[in-house]
Amino acid sequence: MILLLSEGNCTARDLSQILGVREKEVYAHLVHIARSVVPQRQRLLVIPSKCLSCEYVFDTRKRFTKPGRCPICKSERIQEPRYRIV
Ligand SMILES: [Zn+2]
Repeated sequence: MILLLSEGNCTARDLSQILGVREKEVYAHLVHIARSVVPQRQRLLVIPSKCLSCEYVFDTRKRFTKPGRCPICKSERIQEPRYRIV
């Protein structure tokens, strides 16, 4: 999983499909990876979710999971966050 995240931006769904684990487990792994790469002077970058209706970017969100709906326009058309190790 660390290798995949180093190669490019992945969504939790991508990782879930490639690795054959449930999305819920992917999020648990992400939390762990975010900590484990710190000693290597790397970090897990989160490209934030974006509302596809009004372009609102969830850039203050601390959690890794996808938000349910937009706080501005209440749309549920939310682009998934993507992750990469940098
Ligand atoms: Zn919105």
